[in-house]
Amino acid sequence: MYKLGIAKKILLKLKTDFLIIGGGVSGLSLAINLANLVPDENIFLITKESLIDCNTYYAQGGIACVWNNNDNFEKHIQDTLIAGDGLCDEKVVRAVITNAPERVIELIDMGVKFTQNAEGDYDLGKEGGHSERRILHVNDQTGQNVEQTLIKEVSKFNNIQIKQNWCAINLFSNNFRCDGAYVLDQESEEIYNISAKATILATGGAGKIYLYTTNPDVASGDGIAMAYRAGAIIANMEFYQFHPTCLYHPYAKSFLITEAMRGEGAVLKDIRGNKFMQKYHPSNDLAPRDIVSRAIDAELKRTGDDYVYLDIASYKKPDFIKTHFPGVYDECMKFNIDITKEPIPVVPAAHYSCGGVLTKLDGSTKVKNLYVIGESACTGLHGANRLASNSLLEGLVCAHECANTLAKEVKNLKINEFKEWEPGNAVPSTEAVVISQNWDEIRRFMWNYVGIVRTDLRLQRAKKRINLLLDEINQYYWDFKIEKNLVELRNLATVAKLIIVSAISRKESRGIHYNIDYPDKSTMSRLTTLRRPW
Ligand SMILES: Cc1cc2nc3c(=O)[nH]c(=O)nc-3n(C[C@H](O)[C@H](O)[C@H](O)COP(=O)(O)OP(=O)(O)OC[C@H]3O[C@@H](n4cnc5c(N)ncnc54)[C@H](O)[C@@H]3O)c2cc1C
Repeated sequence: MYKLGIAKKILLKLKTDFLIIGGGVSGLSLAINLANLVPDENIFLITKESLIDCNTYYAQGGIACVWNNNDNFEKHIQDTLIAGDGLCDEKVVRAVITNAPERVIELIDMGVKFTQNAEGDYDLGKEGGHSERRILHVNDQTGQNVEQTLIKEVSKFNNIQIKQNWCAINLFSNNFRCDGAYVLDQESEEIYNISAKATILATGGAGKIYLYTTNPDVASGDGIAMAYRAGAIIANMEFYQFHPTCLYHPYAKSFLITEAMRGEGAVLKDIRGNKFMQKYHPSNDLAPRDIVSRAIDAELKRTGDDYVYLDIASYKKPDFIKTHFPGVYDECMKFNIDITKEPIPVVPAAHYSCGGVLTKLDGSTKVKNLYVIGESACTGLHGANRLASNSLLEGLVCAHECANTLAKEVKNLKINEFKEWEPGNAVPSTEAVVISQNWDEIRRFMWNYVGIVRTDLRLQRAKKRINLLLDEINQYYWDFKIEKNLVELRNLATVAKLIIVSAISRKESRGIHYNIDYPDKSTMSRLTTLRRPW
C-alpha cells in the first residue's frame, strides 16, 4: 500500500451524489445527461486544470457519423472492425455506430455549428481507414467548438457544480467498492475527501508518457492508474496509437496536423521531395494511421532525417487551404511556416490510448460504483487500433449510456463516508529536480523502447527501468508534499508499467502493436488484461 504525504494538514469533507472526474467531451456530456435525467441529484465535476485543458479541446478532424445516403451503418461498422484488427467487441461497435446520429443531433441542438458546403449540406470529411465521407467537423477546430458548446450547456444546470484546478489524487475503494476520491485543491493546497454514490472517471488519455505527443499536459493517465489501484481490470494497454503527423519545430508543443489534410490530397514526402507511401500501402497517403506512422518511422530511421514533409501547398489552392484548415494555417504561421506555399515538417507522436479500464458500454467496471468513460475506458470499440474520429463519438455515446444506467440505479445507491486522509511525514520538496528527472526518463525510454516499433529486448529493458523508478517514486510519497506533479508522475509510471507488461505479453504483431520479434499475427485473438497486483 502507498502511504501518501499531505499538502497542508487540513481535512475537508464533501458529499455529493455523483462525482465526475474530468471535463472533456465525456465528463461534460455525462453531467448534462445526468442533470436532465435526475434533476434532484447533485453532480460535482472536477478538472485538473482549466476546463479547456483536455484532449477534447484539441480534436481537429471531427466526429465520425453515418450521415447521408451514400453511406450506411454497415460500412462504418466494417471500417471500425477492420481497423480494430480482430479485437473489437462487435456488439459495442454496432451500438456506438448506430447511436451516432442521435448523439450528433443533440450536439447540433446544443449549438455546435458543423461546417456546411455551398449547398447547405454538412461538409463530410474523409479520413484514413474510412470507406466513405462521414466526418462531421467544424473546420479543423471541432473539439474546441464541441467543448465550448458543452461548457455553455453545463452552466445552465443548478445541480451541477464545477471546480477547476482540483486534482484527484486517489480513489477510495474498499473490497471492490468505490466510495469517492481524495482530491487536491491546487489553489488552497487543501485535500478534500469527497464521498459520492457513484464516482465516474472521465480523465482522458496518457500521451504524456511519451516524449512526443499530441496530447496536452493533463493527459498523464491518472484515471487508468487510479482505477488500477482501486482493483479495476485494465485492458489492451499495449495499443497506444501514434498520430503520423505532429508539427516538427523546436518551439511547437504538441501540435497535430489533422489527418483530414491527407484526406483532402496532401502528400507525405521525404525532405528531398520524394513521395514514399506507395512503398508501404496500396492506399498510399490514406493508409490507416498506424501504417503511416510506421512508414514515417522507417523512413526516418533509413535516412537519418529528423522529420518528413506533409505537402498540401503543391496540390490545393491557398484559398482552399485557408478555409479548410484555418487552425493549422494560423498555428504554422506562428512558426513562419506558410502552408499555402511550403510543405509542413512533421513527425509521428503518441496520440490515443486504445486500451484503458475494461468497461461495459455504460462505463461500469468490476469495481462497484466506479464508472469510467471516454479515452480512459476500454469498451471494445477500438480493439487493436482506433478508426480516426471514432473517439469523440465514443465519449458521447458512453456518457449517454452511463447517465441512463446511473439514473436507473440511483435509488439503490447511498453515500458512504470513508476514512480520512492519512498524512505521511511529508515536507515541502526542495528537490523538484528528481521529479522532473524521473518524468523525462520515463518519457524518453517509453519513446525509444516502447514506441512505434518494439522488440523483446527493448521491452525488457524498459521493464527493468520502470521497476526501479516505481520504487523511487513510491518513496517520494513518504517524503514529499503532495502536489500535482508528483500525483502525475506516480500515475505516469504506473501506466507506463501497464503498457510495458501488456506489450511483453502480446507475442504477435497486431493493430498498432508492432514487435519485430513477432512480425505476424497469431491465430489467437484475445484481450490483454491486468489486475492489481501484476
Ligand atoms: C490533438 C488531438 C486531436 C484529436 N482529434 C480527434 C478527432 O478529430 N476526432 C476524434 O474523435 N478524436 C480526436 N482526438 C481524440 C479525442 O480528442 C479524445 O479521445 C477525447 O477528446 C477524449 O475525451 P475525454 O472526455 O475522454 O478526455 P479529455 O477530453 O482529455 O478530458 C480529460 C479531463 O480529465 C481531467 N483530468 C485528468 N486527470 C485528472 C485528475 N487527476 N483530477 C481531475 N481531473 C483530471 C482533465 O482535466 C480533463 O478535464 C484527438 C486528440 C488529440 C489530442
